[in-house]
Amino acid sequence: MNYIVLDLEWNQCPAGKAEENTSLRFEIIEIGAVKLDESLTLTDRFREVVRPQVYQSLHYKTKEIIALRAIDFEDARIFPEVARDFLAWCGEDAVFCTWGSADLTELQQNLAYYEIPSPFPFPLLYYDIQKIFSIVYEDRKSRRSLESAADFLNIPKSIPFHSALSDAHYTSLIMQSLMPEQILANSSVDYYRTPENRRQEIHLSYETYTKFVSRPFRDKIQAMRDRTVISTPCCKCGKTAQKRIRWFPVGSNNYLCLAWCEEHGYLKGKIRLRHRRDNLCYAIKTIKAISAEDAYVIREKKEVLKLKRRLRRKFNSEKRL
Ligand SMILES: [Zn+2]
Repeated sequence: MNYIVLDLEWNQCPAGKAEENTSLRFEIIEIGAVKLDESLTLTDRFREVVRPQVYQSLHYKTKEIIALRAIDFEDARIFPEVARDFLAWCGEDAVFCTWGSADLTELQQNLAYYEIPSPFPFPLLYYDIQKIFSIVYEDRKSRRSLESAADFLNIPKSIPFHSALSDAHYTSLIMQSLMPEQILANSSVDYYRTPENRRQEIHLSYETYTKFVSRPFRDKIQAMRDRTVISTPCCKCGKTAQKRIRWFPVGSNNYLCLAWCEEHGYLKGKIRLRHRRDNLCYAIKTIKAISAEDAYVIREKKEVLKLKRRLRRKFNSEKRL
């Protein structure tokens, strides 16, 4: 098995959203990657600039990054050629690692645009080193920039940031500060492709929580009626946990609930509803064991939301009078 630490640079429509090509919002212009063996030792590098085909000039944000380096797009090959060589270089037993959650999604989008068959399995699990950095060194929730994570670990900054290869290189140095087990215990799901039916639904179990990714639904009402979506199996033992507070909305696309397992205590359920490209929606549910204090926070949150709703209703009815 090899770790492929991937970083892409992409361009977007220089004229803004109104004129963009909706089947390729982000066009890859550089692929950088390093290969590490199972013990996280560097064994190889890949770097190639890609000649853009969709957006001929650079968005100002891309310019800011690219201006620092002399990049010659004229001599560069186009995406299908570079992608084929890159995927062959990755090999059969590749495990992908990225800084953040965007790169593999954009790689698949670019492959689809050129109708290149996807080499990736379903579901596509990968390692988001930005997230794992937060799990291991910080609070699990915060996300640092690559440069500030390198600073945190006192990694010498001998090469500039923001080229695909240098960012893959720094990401690999951050990985080398971790134990392989810390990486392997914290996979992420790539959401470019999500389950099409019940059989494909994804159930994953981690040290402190479980994750479920659902099949598609017409809308959130249908999603929130689905038995599997709203069920609350305990993340430790899998037994059905009794709900103490039923699912309630937090914002427009998130729901929370509080459940109780006889053996493992309080559980926090969270559902995020996301839209797919075909406008159907799917649910991502996580269930984790929490303390009595955290359970109290969920109760408070629910009460505050109830109160806000009541005040809004009162305000609106008074306005009408
Ligand atoms: Zn349990």
